[in-house]
Amino acid sequence: IKIKVKEIDIPVAFAAAFEGERIRKDAVYAEFGSKRSKAWELVVMKTPDEIEDHQITLTGPDIDETDPPVYLPLGIVVEVAGKNMEEDFEPVLERRLHYFINYIEGIMHIGQRNIAWIRISKDAFEKGFRLKHFGEVLYAMMHEEFGTVVDKCAVHIYTDLSKVEELEESLAFPRYRKRDERLASLTDESVDTFYTCLLCQSFAPAHVCVVTPERLGLCGAVSWLDAKATKELDPTGACQPVSKEGLEDETKGIWSEVNKAVDTASQGSVSRVSLYSILEDPMTSCGCFECICGIVPEANGVVIVNREFGATTPVGMTFGELASMTGGGVQTPGFMGHGRHFIASKKFMAAEGGIGRIIWMPKELKDDVRDRLNKTAKELYDIDNFTDMICDETIATDVEDVIQFLSEVGHPALDQDPIM
Ligand code: SF4
Ligand code: ZN
Repeated sequence: IKIKVKEIDIPVAFAAAFEGERIRKDAVYAEFGSKRSKAWELVVMKTPDEIEDHQITLTGPDIDETDPPVYLPLGIVVEVAGKNMEEDFEPVLERRLHYFINYIEGIMHIGQRNIAWIRISKDAFEKGFRLKHFGEVLYAMMHEEFGTVVDKCAVHIYTDLSKVEELEESLAFPRYRKRDERLASLTDESVDTFYTCLLCQSFAPAHVCVVTPERLGLCGAVSWLDAKATKELDPTGACQPVSKEGLEDETKGIWSEVNKAVDTASQGSVSRVSLYSILEDPMTSCGCFECICGIVPEANGVVIVNREFGATTPVGMTFGELASMTGGGVQTPGFMGHGRHFIASKKFMAAEGGIGRIIWMPKELKDDVRDRLNKTAKELYDIDNFTDMICDETIATDVEDVIQFLSEVGHPALDQDPIM
């Protein structure tokens, strides 16, 4: 039996118009994630008999149990079941949590997976908004938007620190990893179709992500499998297939069909894209990139900085400063936004020599991609522990000192052709 949700039982308004709403520091009543605490979200598939439809639970304190500002850890588990549901659809449904939560008046949501960041405003709290209302919204929207695959839905919210930590380890991380592994086994060569994603055109009208097995959407949340599932769930929706035909340059990643699709989808703003180049017709960047890569000609390479890193990079700019010149849906040769996962791909800047050009990354990012990056460097250049040759903020941030470090460790970028 399908339930069509008409109204959502919450004390504040709910509309797509609230998507861009920002909650400033002094308007915050409660905050989850970012620098304050852990916050993660997960959609998991269950069998129908494992789910009691419309069950919403809260384990741990609600936001009215302490004085503001309230800082709590948060885990949100959305369980779904349905005859047509597939595990491949989980990340697609999960990505939408960001939008559904943002549509609530007085609530701000940024990020996804275990880098979620949520703020509840004082206004929303005063109108009576409590944590169970996240459950009401997510329950209603899962049925509303994914009625083709979701027959039953339950939402479990955790704010108890030990529970949040335990479930992150035992439930969320293994699920994220499983999806990543599934994707890791796919290469661009192994498929004959890529996908465009136009979800971000709402604020970057010319932006088109071309999603391939090795180059996921720059937000990090739309993998090739996600794009494929999105197309199956919503045939006329944000993700459309592009057949990988008309190969112009394999190393740079240029296909005439891809160019055509991007030209159409950007209303003529962008007519050529090289999927594996940062200098020649690089892909556009909207604003929600996980990382920004930018060239450092003096060091013959590039730095990569992730959103979470707050300090200045060797290009003399912070992530925010780089983002303001990279984003907006325009091509910026020499700079590009991309997902974390793309960093260890053999296609990463393949046109300019590949991952051997990476000379600096924040330590946290290095540690995150280390295993996969080392594996790729071994295969491409027969170098062991390549990640250790990449400088980070604990070693140096000044370009001169970075170059000094690179020559000490014999970094391969120094032996490559001039980057420009
Ligand atoms: Fe889609 Fe790209 Fe936006 Fe991610 S960044 S939602 S892949 S358009
Ligand atoms: Zn975006």
